[in-house]
Amino acid sequence: MARRTKIYEGKAKVLYDGPEPGTIVQYFKDEATAFNAEKKDVIDGKGVLNNRLSEFFMNGLQAIGIPTHFIKRLNMREQLVRKCEIIPLEVIVRNYAAGSISKRLGIEEGTQMPRPIVEYCYKDDSLGDPLVTEEHIAAFGWASQQDMEDILSLALRVNDFMSGLMLGVGIRLVDFKIEIGRVYEGDYQRLVIADEISPDSCRLWDIETGRKLDKDVFRRDLGNLTDAYSEVARRLGVLPKTAQMPKPKIVE
Ligand code: UDP
Repeated sequence: MARRTKIYEGKAKVLYDGPEPGTIVQYFKDEATAFNAEKKDVIDGKGVLNNRLSEFFMNGLQAIGIPTHFIKRLNMREQLVRKCEIIPLEVIVRNYAAGSISKRLGIEEGTQMPRPIVEYCYKDDSLGDPLVTEEHIAAFGWASQQDMEDILSLALRVNDFMSGLMLGVGIRLVDFKIEIGRVYEGDYQRLVIADEISPDSCRLWDIETGRKLDKDVFRRDLGNLTDAYSEVARRLGVLPKTAQMPKPKIVE
């Protein structure tokens, strides 16, 4: 059997060279980490759910003309994506206060923002992904002025799409994080939504009960993470209503 070349292993995913030039296989692990990997666990079924959910969101975005890196699902845990150059920023959009903005600015969690707020963090685990301004981004050359205009517009379009989709199934999109990649086509570069969009990278609260259906369940020890993600998948029709996540099998 041919051995694949591992390009990168992160906290929740492994990237391998894809079958064609310019492609990558993105493998979703069951590992969950929080607080810059100080808290770690293996959550059975998380990778399978995130693979499906990210596919669902990326396909939805493509369908309304927002370019993404997604090509196709390969199997339960893997998807084929376009290779791109990741801009070293975490682009965060917030509709309601939660997490770091609540701490930083003393805003009670759940407070609606006057309008969606877009923030940028510099992607560097050793620094704990610090918040940066457009001034830093321009001065250090992480993205051009044109990129920043395109990123802002992409982030707000993703927010509109995701908020509407979630609202339709009784879920409030509190905030989310996306990563943006550059793909080169001849003399041109295009920006695409890359990485993943999943309950690992969004805050999702049930509109009626406020139940958290995202990674905060793990971060804050609020119950079973797979149950929460399965609930999101079921409501969106990504999993059949009756589907149970497969239990691990003992291999003899
Ligand atoms: N987020 C993420 N990866 C990160 C940091 C944040 O996916 O490395 C997501 C997080 O799940 C939430 C949003 O971005 O949906 C805003 O996160 P926040 O800045 O509040 O950070 P946290 O409180 O999670 O540290």
